[in-house]
Amino acid sequence: MSLLLRGGVVVDTEPTPFVTGHADVLVEGGVIAAVGTGLSSPPDAEVIDATGRIVLPGFVDTHRHTWQAAIRSITPDISFGGYLERVLGGLAPRYRTQDVYAGNLAGALECLNSGITTLLDWSHIQLTPAHTEATVEALRASGIRAVLGYCYGGPDGPEGLAAEGRRVHRAYFDRADPLLSMAIAALGPEIAGETLASHEWRLARDLGLPVTVHMGGHGAESAERGLAFLRENGLLGPGTTYVHPNHYTDDALKRIADSGGTASVSPLIEAELGIGYPATGRARAAGLTTGLSADTVASGPGDMFSLIRAAYTLERACGADFTTRDVLRMATLEGAEVVGLGEVTGSLRVGKQADLVLLRTDTPVMAPAHDPIGAIVLSADTSCVDTVLVGGRVVKRDGRLLHHDVPGVLTALRESATALTA
Ligand SMILES: [Zn+2]
Repeated sequence: MSLLLRGGVVVDTEPTPFVTGHADVLVEGGVIAAVGTGLSSPPDAEVIDATGRIVLPGFVDTHRHTWQAAIRSITPDISFGGYLERVLGGLAPRYRTQDVYAGNLAGALECLNSGITTLLDWSHIQLTPAHTEATVEALRASGIRAVLGYCYGGPDGPEGLAAEGRRVHRAYFDRADPLLSMAIAALGPEIAGETLASHEWRLARDLGLPVTVHMGGHGAESAERGLAFLRENGLLGPGTTYVHPNHYTDDALKRIADSGGTASVSPLIEAELGIGYPATGRARAAGLTTGLSADTVASGPGDMFSLIRAAYTLERACGADFTTRDVLRMATLEGAEVVGLGEVTGSLRVGKQADLVLLRTDTPVMAPAHDPIGAIVLSADTSCVDTVLVGGRVVKRDGRLLHHDVPGVLTALRESATALTA
């Protein structure tokens, strides 16, 4: 099955974002086969007219608690502490398996609808094996490319983590899946304490999985202590993503970069909840590969356009030489590198998976889109997302999600919301 996207304005992101200009993109066997002008269409190819569209790689969200879709906007005007208490302390324990399924499916479709084709699902709702089953089923059903960040939430401490983490890996990830892979979402030393953190890293290493961990968002002293713990225990190394690295010093960010770690910045939530000033520019200046993340829709938006605008604006506000190209790279290629998929997605390099987004420019929001990268970063919103492909499969077309009964998904989400807040 071949697809030819004909005549769009192509924006690639590797090594840094640039405008190719009017060009065609040929997709064969789910991967990008060619990018160029006047490509001839193979006999079996379906041709998609991309005239008046910007064609770019799909966005990558490096950290989202996808299960929270049913509690969208439930905690506005809240502090980080208030969020932890209300959402993680109050609402999370109420989640049944059907709530996890409804939230994860709706959340993943929200991503696809807004052009996010790859998602690190930071899933600290793994209360029972059935919750994990529901999470995996929903991610698979959605059609998104996802890394399941598995965070053990059962009652049995380090032993439970070790046993259940291994079971999940065996049950769902023992063979390569084209769309779904696994990471260990660690609670880490700052939240769970050093003993459990040691077990989390040990499990990840035993299974050969990356780690994603919330570290650096709990004050300067805690940030430094957590990093010292990793270093002293031989855990400071590659394949680790530091979520909310707000309170690291420039020197600590440099140490993380030198170790091969990466960063996930949630510019909007970090600013809104008072976690700290987003470290976007400082992290990149320290040489850290840095992606963006929505974090939670309980208190913020779930689309990448909002995130790139927040990151861009907050950097410019403090006088940083931070450009639309910088932030677009974070939202695509750099995000893919953060979630360990830099060779798979995030740019239009031939041979990569055809994870693509077509943005309409013939709308009041976008026209006349003088600078295509400027238009993506400064003007576009979800209403411009016309067509979305994941691995060459069209999941949104002419502004409509395919393959799903969207009203049915939203009905299930509303039923879940009612039960959760009753
Ligand atoms: Zn988070």
